[in-house]
Amino acid sequence: MTPLRFSDHSLRAQIALVFGALVVGLAVLLSLAFGELLKRRIERDAGTALQVIAENAGKLLANGLLERSREAEVLAAAEVVWVKGLDTPEGHHMLARSQATQPHSVWIGVADAQGVVRTATGGLLVGQSVAQRPWFQEGLQKLHVGDVHAAKLLEKLLPPNPSGEPYRLVDFAAPIRIGPTTVGVVGIHGSWEWTREVMVSLTPAHTEDSAVELFVFDREGQLIYAPGGQTQALREAGQHLPAGAAAPGDRAASPAAVVPWRDGRSYLTAMVPLRARSSASDLGWRVVAREPVELAFAEASRTVRMALAIGLAAALLASVLAWLAARRLSDDLYALADAASAVEAEKAGARIPQAHSSREVRQLSSALGRMTHRLLASREAMEEKVRVRTLELEAANRALDLQARTDALTGLLNRRGFETQMAFALALARRSGRPLSLITIDVDHFKRVNDTYGHEAGDEVLRRLARTLEVRLRNSDVVARLGGEEFVALLPDTDLAGAQAIAQSLVAAMAAQQDPVVGLITVSAGVASMRSLQDNGTDLLRRGDAALYEAKGQGRNRVCVEV
Ligand code: GH3
Ligand code: MG
Ligand code: MG
Repeated sequence: MTPLRFSDHSLRAQIALVFGALVVGLAVLLSLAFGELLKRRIERDAGTALQVIAENAGKLLANGLLERSREAEVLAAAEVVWVKGLDTPEGHHMLARSQATQPHSVWIGVADAQGVVRTATGGLLVGQSVAQRPWFQEGLQKLHVGDVHAAKLLEKLLPPNPSGEPYRLVDFAAPIRIGPTTVGVVGIHGSWEWTREVMVSLTPAHTEDSAVELFVFDREGQLIYAPGGQTQALREAGQHLPAGAAAPGDRAASPAAVVPWRDGRSYLTAMVPLRARSSASDLGWRVVAREPVELAFAEASRTVRMALAIGLAAALLASVLAWLAARRLSDDLYALADAASAVEAEKAGARIPQAHSSREVRQLSSALGRMTHRLLASREAMEEKVRVRTLELEAANRALDLQARTDALTGLLNRRGFETQMAFALALARRSGRPLSLITIDVDHFKRVNDTYGHEAGDEVLRRLARTLEVRLRNSDVVARLGGEEFVALLPDTDLAGAQAIAQSLVAAMAAQQDPVVGLITVSAGVASMRSLQDNGTDLLRRGDAALYEAKGQGRNRVCVEV
């Protein structure tokens, strides 16, 4: 089986296929391009939204850090209290009041210059040494804000964390100076729970179309806050600041990027560095907001699917329309082809129809119609020409035939023409049983005429004899010149005696004529008749000749009858 080529399909199928494929291709291309455009737009818009959330979270955190560090400074600056001693009830009261206004400050205490805790909220750690703690060492010098860390000494002393997670703290410390002398350090341990509250308050409620989450990473890129209590789990899974998140301050680029996270999923991710309100509170944190791509781009995907569906439906419709339009054209072409075949087969009344489906087809059918008309007309003309030529040829043949049977000099039949007539007359005589006779005639001493008066005069004598024979014989008689100056007359329905009488009258008639040039010319004649049904032309003529010879022998100018 030979493979089906494209050109083997009908025109309507070809056009429908090409058109359909074209529109399908266009629909796919357009919807993909459109989808991509939409995705970029959404990426930018959703990215901006994520960035705004992250920025707000960052501001709140920065404000919190500043406030807490101020609180430490304010407490340390209460010189009038500390001048009376680091462990006065007044001092203790001031710390308790501060904690009451800041519930997330889980511990506020004062250590002396040697690092021994002298007073603290809840009396926790009083008398113990914090000399080795970084906040104390730093706090001796200046205002200090320490990055988040696990609670060490306090873990066992504090009531359990409401979130269930281990305590994680941010430290604030400020030196207590009386005059130029540093006498101690005020320390505040802020609960990390505060960060969680800020983040939760800023995270939009999760819905079917949106699931924004906020994260905080420290200066080294370590995860320090994740929503839903997963901080510890994610840290253990090795989640760092995701590479590829939009660089801080890179405004030209999209505010967010699609980035893979450690959980194996991709998220639209925006990152904002925490803008610290003071140099002491600048911990280099970064707030990251993320949303799963499939949610962020759900609308784009839906739109692409819809555009594709509409495009495919349009392709189907276009194919059907193209097929219908092409059908009009191909119907016309089939009709023209059928008509041309009918004309070729010379069917009666076959003609090219006028097609109207398009201007080209109209032109084609008109041209074909004219061509067919012309062909038929020229065929008719050709046939007429052939008919005329055939008639002319037949006439020429007849003339040629007559010429072949006629003697040029006298216009009588020649020997060949005579033989045909003789056979005809014999057959007729045999059938009818009627008699048939023959007279042979020869000019006497004709050689002398030629010799004396010339050949032309001899010819004239022959012509005169021919006229005489024609005039004196019946129409039904056959007269011929057999050659030279010898003639023959075939007389149907005439017996020997009748023929003899006619021969006598012919000889007498010639002898009665006086030619002005050659004078008297006589002829001799021999007569013979058909004797039996078997008698043939050759014998009859031979017997006639014999009688003529006899007449010559007897002295010429006479008639002799066969014996
Ligand atoms: P006879 O009486 O015995 O018939 O003698 P003849 O002279 O008529 O016979 P012969 O056979 O000796 O001569 C016949 C002559 O007829 C010879 C030839 O020159 C002449 N002749 C034959 N055909 C033609 C012709 O077509 N025209 C002319 N002018 N002469 C012819
Ligand atoms: Mg002669
Ligand atoms: Mg002769």
